[in-house]
Amino acid sequence: MKISEIYKNKKKSLSFEIFPPKKDSQLDNIDDTLDVLSELHPDFISVTFGAGGSSNCNRTIELAKKIKYKYGIEPVVHLTCLHYDKAEIEEFARVLKAEGIENVLALRGDKNDRVKEKDDFRHSSDLISFLKPDYDFCFLGACYPECHPESPNRVSEIKCLKSKVDAGAEALISQLFFDNEAFFHFNEECKIADIDVPVIPGVMPVINATQIKRMISMCNATFPERFERIIRRYEDNKEALFDAGMSYALSQIIDLLVSDIRGIHLYTMNNPIVARRICEGIKNIV
Ligand code: FAD
Repeated sequence: MKISEIYKNKKKSLSFEIFPPKKDSQLDNIDDTLDVLSELHPDFISVTFGAGGSSNCNRTIELAKKIKYKYGIEPVVHLTCLHYDKAEIEEFARVLKAEGIENVLALRGDKNDRVKEKDDFRHSSDLISFLKPDYDFCFLGACYPECHPESPNRVSEIKCLKSKVDAGAEALISQLFFDNEAFFHFNEECKIADIDVPVIPGVMPVINATQIKRMISMCNATFPERFERIIRRYEDNKEALFDAGMSYALSQIIDLLVSDIRGIHLYTMNNPIVARRICEGIKNIV
């Protein structure tokens, strides 16, 4: 089923992101996580794609097949293009089609000094425009409530997002953020720019100190004072940080759900305990 159908038929979606296990671990190791995630009846599960030409990409496809055929849940396959040429992308698309995958999150991918970029695709919209004439996928795109780090300003950000939607993205999934006001403001900007596809907020419960350090170094998300106080207070207390991080994410999600957003996308980090706790917290709401 195409994800666009879900948004035609359902008011609010619940979806998860997972990543394939590393090359030296068994793909079956993810089954414990999927067993739990499937009990939570998500509308779809998206599977990340190794950045910068990593050889883990076939695992994305294998995992998506498992989600679809073993668990009966609709998968969304992430596909990046910056480090691939047209022939390589065409080959991925052929395999996805042959395997019955219908939904693709079209991405540019992060720049990576260690991997040479190829010249065929500069942006995610190029990937959608290239595949759309020959492949009947439902394309989704990424969006950034607090701007992509390379964007010169918000006007440029929103204009580029509009061109992604005009190229064929039928829904947008956001980068994680911790300040809901930033998302609400961004959602308004999308409406003003006639971006009329579902804009799904991505939420990541932050539950350990390593994750927090990674967030600070990798993404543009601002940490509201309320969130910083939690980190300061509990950074050396693993259990307390877990509880406080979960509660923060839950309150963020409930605040989002009572607004007019179309769903929640949960960055699970392959942690079924996190997904279960969140789902229990909103089971009468979604
Ligand atoms: P683009 O849409 O190409 O945008 C990149 C930059 O270029 C932005 O600043 C944008 O404003 C600008 N831009 C866009 N179009 C144009 C244009 N036509 N002309 C000029 N400028 C333009 N990375 C992975 O490697 N694997 C994954 O599985 C993965 N999953 C992700 C899932 C989500 C929900 C999100 C939000 C990100 C994900 N990423 C993933 C990270 C993503 O690859 C990076 O953020 C990357 O730097 C940008 O990808 P994009 O598709 O948003 O790029």
